[in-house]
Order: sequence, then structure tokens, then C-alpha cells
Amino acid sequence: MEYIDLRSDTVTKPTPGMISAMAAAEVGDDVYHEDPAILRFEQRVAELTGKEAAIFCPTGSMTNMLGVWVWAKNGGEVLCDSWAHIARAEMGAHALLHGITMRTWCSESGMPGLSQLKRLFALDISSILVSTTCVAFENTHNFGGGLILDFTELTTLTNWARTHGAATHLDGARLWHANIETGISIAEYSALFDTVSLCFSKGLGAPVGSVLAGPQDAIQEIWWQRKRLGGGWRQAGILAAAAEYAMDHQWQRLAEDHENARLLAEIIASYDESAIDFHKLQSNILILEVGEEVADQVVAEVLEKGVAVTRLGTTTIRAVTHLGLTATQVRQAGEILGQAIAKAHAQVNS
Ligand SMILES: *Cc1c(COP(=O)(O)O)cnc(C)c1O
Repeated sequence: MEYIDLRSDTVTKPTPGMISAMAAAEVGDDVYHEDPAILRFEQRVAELTGKEAAIFCPTGSMTNMLGVWVWAKNGGEVLCDSWAHIARAEMGAHALLHGITMRTWCSESGMPGLSQLKRLFALDISSILVSTTCVAFENTHNFGGGLILDFTELTTLTNWARTHGAATHLDGARLWHANIETGISIAEYSALFDTVSLCFSKGLGAPVGSVLAGPQDAIQEIWWQRKRLGGGWRQAGILAAAAEYAMDHQWQRLAEDHENARLLAEIIASYDESAIDFHKLQSNILILEVGEEVADQVVAEVLEKGVAVTRLGTTTIRAVTHLGLTATQVRQAGEILGQAIAKAHAQVNS
């Protein structure tokens, strides 16, 4: 049985044009800095972000680990959202492998207020406190439901943090989606941060790959740390070619994924309005609020009917749109999800 797979936008497969680009890639040993496809791609991403240098890595977890490490490796701490991917979905790697501590803020917007940031922040203020050396943000905010961080607020917060001596890191796994929705360029967003991580294996549809962009000296140090972590790869230019193809041919089409997410939401809302908060639906991630104790049941029931979604919390389900879906499939998934959620709610309320 073929599923309509809404679990994540990581499930996409290489498109025919992408496979041709991979087959045509000119490659070499990247540990010797001899892979032309990687060198060109890194240069292009550095230019796109307005940074001095960039490094291609297997995953966004690795680019985040390295970006955070370079600013907090000498005993500094990181501040981030309590639902941040770096805090929740990287398996504790920052602590386990790099000995880095984090403190988190709780927010609806993915950002603290300025006064909250000031209260959390600690830089050389006392001999008894660890110093905040990095403040990290995530845009779009995955577990926040694909939320786009407000640019003006983000500017205020990052300026304040940098003025007070901390570096800023952006987990821009889906910064592409924020750009498509707001028209604010990748370079404009990146200017607020010292290091920026971009994923090519999510909405952009490459099979593998993330890039970390930042200052030359930081990327140089990171190059060694990537090698220590086992991330020195060889003829990975075939993957860089896929990622570059994704950037050139599959970025602008993300608007379609956003439309499909809205279509999905509208159909589900026609069965049960309470499942969706339309204010939070800003890109390709839809969080469905299904109520206590029925999330598992809904996930299992729709799976039987051919729709795969992810259970995110005790009461929530996540559905993500991507290039592997047609509008017809999205409509069909909307009907199946809408019916299952309405049924579950009726059971709970009876
Ligand atoms: C997917 C994702 C990453 C990186 O995940 P990998 O699977 O390690 O590539 C980082 N941040 C966010 C917000 C993500 O959604």
C-alpha cells in the first residue's frame, strides 16, 4: 500500500532532474579539498548568506552541533527556545559530545521578549555564573508548527545579544520557507547571525545535506571538528550537486507546499474547527490539536486508511507538506484526517 506521507518533508526522493545533476557531478576527495562540486556549492551558499565561508555536512544536526560548538566550546552556555530542535531533537549531542549547557525560554513565538532575554542572559556578570556565549534561534520553528519568526523582533533580540558579547546562531533548516512567505532574503536573515545552518534535505528535497555558513576563521576551526566527529567525507560532490540542484530548481516551488498546507487545514477545519489554529499555520507544517488521549488513536486510524502523520505531543499531531504530494492527495488526506479527528472528538465528548 502506498501512503500519503505527511510525517515530514524529509521523506522526499530525488527528482529526475536532480538525479541527472548528481550523475554529472565532477567529484574529488573533499578531505583533500579536491571536490569541485562541493567547493563550488559551499562558495555559492557563502554568497547566498553573505558570509565569508561555508561548510557542507551530512545533516542539520551536525551543522547545528558545529555552529553552537564554535561559540560555546570554552564553557559558555547557549540560550534557546525550550522547543528548539537543538534542545530536543539532537539527542543531547551538544551536552554528551561537546559538554555544552543550555538554558531555555518558553514562548509562543519562538522568541523571548527582550526583557526576558535580558533576564536570562549572563555574560561575565559574576564569578559564580556560567557565561552566555551564544543565543540560538530557529526559523521557521519546527515544533512551533512551522512558525515564522518576526523579523523586527528578531533584529532587536540578536542586536542586543551581539552588542552584549554573545554570538548568535540560526537553525535555518527551513529558512527557505520563511523567505518564500516573507520575501526577506536569506542574506537579510543571515546578517542577524554569526553562523547559519541551512538544510537541503527538508522542503528543498535533496536526499542528504546541510550547510553551515559563517566567518572564515570559525568555519576553519569547524572543519577540524567536523573531521573529529567523523564528518570528513570524500566524493560527496554527488550530494552537493543534488543540494545545489534543489536550491536552483526546488526552492521557489515551496509556495505550493504552503498552499497545500492551507488546503489541508481548511478541509480538516470543515470537519472540526477546534483542531487548527490558523494563526500558527504559516508555512508547510500543520499542527493538529486533537485532545487528550486520542492522538495515538487518530494516528493509527488514518494510517489504516493510507495517511501517515506524526504524533508530536500528548494532544498534538503534525502533518507536513512537501514536493512528493499532489493537491489531489492532499485533499484526500484532509478528508481522512478530518473524519478521524471529528470522530475522536465526538467519542471524547460523549
Ligand atoms: C530537520 C531539522 C534539523 C536537522 O535535522 P537532520 O535530520 O539532522 O538533518 C535541524 N533543525 C530543524 C528545525 C529541523 O527541522
